[in-house]
Amino acid sequence: MPELRQNRFTKEWVVIATERAKRPEELKAKHEVKPLPAYVQTCPFCPGNEALAPPEVWRTPASTDGDWRVRVLPNKFAALCREGEPTRKIVRSRRTINGVGIHDVIVETPDHSLTTALLTDSQVADILRSYKARFEAASADPRVAHVILFKNHGVAGGTSLEHPHSQMIASPVISSQVRGRLSEALRHFDEYGECIFCEVLQEDIADPVRIVLLTEHFAALEPFASPTPFYTHIFPRRHMASFGAISQPEVEDLARVLRSVLAKLYHGLDNPDFNYTIRTAPHESAGVTYYHWYLSIIPRLTRVAGFELGSGMFINTVLPEAAAEFLRNVKV
Ligand SMILES: [Zn+2]
Ligand SMILES: [Zn+2]
Repeated sequence: MPELRQNRFTKEWVVIATERAKRPEELKAKHEVKPLPAYVQTCPFCPGNEALAPPEVWRTPASTDGDWRVRVLPNKFAALCREGEPTRKIVRSRRTINGVGIHDVIVETPDHSLTTALLTDSQVADILRSYKARFEAASADPRVAHVILFKNHGVAGGTSLEHPHSQMIASPVISSQVRGRLSEALRHFDEYGECIFCEVLQEDIADPVRIVLLTEHFAALEPFASPTPFYTHIFPRRHMASFGAISQPEVEDLARVLRSVLAKLYHGLDNPDFNYTIRTAPHESAGVTYYHWYLSIIPRLTRVAGFELGSGMFINTVLPEAAAEFLRNVKV
């Protein structure tokens, strides 16, 4: 009998379709893993082609007279405009706000051919430090209400540019998805006096069937109500509402955990397309006791179809416990 499981953070239900359960390895990416060149002449993110992209806003190391490891640039095809004021307009039922915000591209490595799974831990730590620096700068902008850091990898992940990169969008509004997650967390805190995320984390660590990786500062796990195969959360073990509160040792530990989980996916499932995103509290809720930031990795192994669009409910054909076991066993 299939089992419906409820996501404790969003209250959404997921159908765990054990009747048509797939073994994790049946979901391996169908595409060929073809090697990429380390440098491409027309790529705006390759070293030496800096003039093809807008002037950078950040680099590691900071000096401009040598090689860079990570660069941050304004997105050439930005979703939001860096100049102007987020003026609201309400005309009868129509609400609008000027599309003011920040849209950055984080170029993760000078090497065109690499992907996060193949980088070193210290390179991933450089990327995370650039996230933190840009997150803090964007959060300090009074026009910004919420900052979303994310990576799209592969065609199904929504990217057409091969060069390893991630993005940051600082938006003038807080989305209703984020508001919903915050208000569910607040409701839980008011009722039980504890952070729902800390509670779930303690439960999963005590009964580690869905744990993929546990380190001093982070836990990578498959959520109980995982909506799609291999959906993976990485939680800081210390309570923090905002990604901006991450400490230096935590950045280094997160780099190891993120790279290891992505390497397990890369080697275990043949470089699947994926997205990841950091789900942080907005700046106005940065220190709250009831919300807890985390990073979600969403491999794009299946397609969203009519039922998901019509109901918001997902059908997952891989048991999260089986996905966790599979990932634990991929040696990286
Ligand atoms: Zn490139
Ligand atoms: Zn917490």
